Amino acid sequence: MLIKPASHPLPLLLAAALMAASPVYAQSTESDLARIAGFFATAQVVEGPDLVDCTLSGGTETSCFSITVRPDPRDYTPGPWCPTHISDDADAGGLWFLDGAMVDVDGAFITNLAEIYGDAHWQLFDPDTGAVRFTGTLEACEAAARPDVDPAYRNHCVQCLPEYMPEDATITYVIPLNAVPGQRPERTHRGGSGIAANGVRLDGPAPVDAILGAYTIAPFDDCGGHVNPHVGYHYHAVTDCLSVAPTTLTSADSDVVAAHGGQIGIAMDGYAIFAHLLADSQSPEGLDACHGHEADGLAYHYHAGSAGSNQILGCLTAQTGCVLVGGEAVCDASRRPPRP
Ligand SMILES: [Zn+2]
Ligand SMILES: [Zn+2]
Repeated sequence: MLIKPASHPLPLLLAAALMAASPVYAQSTESDLARIAGFFATAQVVEGPDLVDCTLSGGTETSCFSITVRPDPRDYTPGPWCPTHISDDADAGGLWFLDGAMVDVDGAFITNLAEIYGDAHWQLFDPDTGAVRFTGTLEACEAAARPDVDPAYRNHCVQCLPEYMPEDATITYVIPLNAVPGQRPERTHRGGSGIAANGVRLDGPAPVDAILGAYTIAPFDDCGGHVNPHVGYHYHAVTDCLSVAPTTLTSADSDVVAAHGGQIGIAMDGYAIFAHLLADSQSPEGLDACHGHEADGLAYHYHAGSAGSNQILGCLTAQTGCVLVGGEAVCDASRRPPRP
């Protein structure tokens, strides 16, 4: 089969070579790509989806689709995140995780942090004026968002604004066209969970303990997203904001898919991600640790975790592809050092 050591993606040549080699395969690949393009119809696609060679996390060389997107939703304006005054109501702030649920980051929440977390060191606002301390510049957001939070930004509400990102910031996802089972499930901490139909990254868990440990809160907007200067706007929760898109599952009946909650994303291992609940608000049954199952005649797929769980996916069942940033052109996910 057609694994060629391309130094950069050569979709047209590859497609031509595929057609010459195997008309049936080429046809199904073409319809795969068409389905993927249809799924991402509402995303800000800069390039793709194209067919590329890739090496997955477990070392398997296979065919992936590559899609380059702007990390911004087209259908709404992200934010707000931090309220500016302790008298602000919920409209002025976003959401935060508390005890497995999402709570409003409003003035009252900011005021009550010491009580909520049982630690008198919390003081996110000026006691004289009631003004909330928040990161108001790119430098501040970078210093506060790094793993070892700059001590100067302790007791701040951390937000990075979309306008801090370069205009031309893009992310390229390289994801297997067909999932290839791995030796064991993979964590979502490094490469994220996947990509939503609107082109926004479905991330791994937010590092809540590190954030709280520095006496900071890094709220999500009401759609479960916030910005970091490296990957841009991304989700730590799947909420009602995410609409379903035409499924990428082959030969799946669209009514069955809709009744099953609908597909909202594609995971980094190539499996489909469905909504948290089925259309009748029931929970899907028999999910594994990664949140996946086969049900209702649908091939293996995931369901997003509940919005407050800080786990869009529990893990990834199959070998993952790549998120390419900083000019990388080829996906070799096996090369990446494993994380502790
Ligand atoms: Zn984040
Ligand atoms: Zn299901």
